[in-house]
Amino acid sequence: MKMKDANCIFCKIAAGEIPSKTIYEDETFRVILDINPATRGHALIIPKEHYANIYELPEDTAAAAMVLAKKLASHIAEALTCDGFNIIQNNGEIAGQTVFHFHMHLIPRYEDDGNQDKLCLNHLELSEEELEGICQKLRK
Ligand code: AMP
Ligand code: ZN
Repeated sequence: MKMKDANCIFCKIAAGEIPSKTIYEDETFRVILDINPATRGHALIIPKEHYANIYELPEDTAAAAMVLAKKLASHIAEALTCDGFNIIQNNGEIAGQTVFHFHMHLIPRYEDDGNQDKLCLNHLELSEEELEGICQKLRK
């Protein structure tokens, strides 16, 4: 039985209970056009099972999502002749997540799309010691 959250809009979209502009579907994923697109062709890869974020996502679904993102990026780039491509995935409110069902954004980019070249994040100036401290904490 599929894991679903009765109050989740992406569970309903993935199950076909709410109509969407679907560009691809298989047993595991539905891929739809974003209702409020950043650019022409902005699409969302949505697993059919409910996982709130990347921490909950099983590794096999994560791997399949990445392979699908790779295939669709090539397909969208060719079909829409874009000039670049962003793949974005937000986790947590502070990171910009608004729908708490894992999804990946596929965003074709165009020379004249009016967005900034890079993601809108500030850059920190960290000392060598600070970088080393973080490196020590993260090294596996
Ligand atoms: P995020 O901010 O990463 O959680 O992304 C959520 C995305 O879902 C936003 O880009 C919304 O425009 C999009 N979205 C929300 N509701 C719908 C919907 N009913 N159909 C298609 N896209 C949606
Ligand atoms: Zn859901």
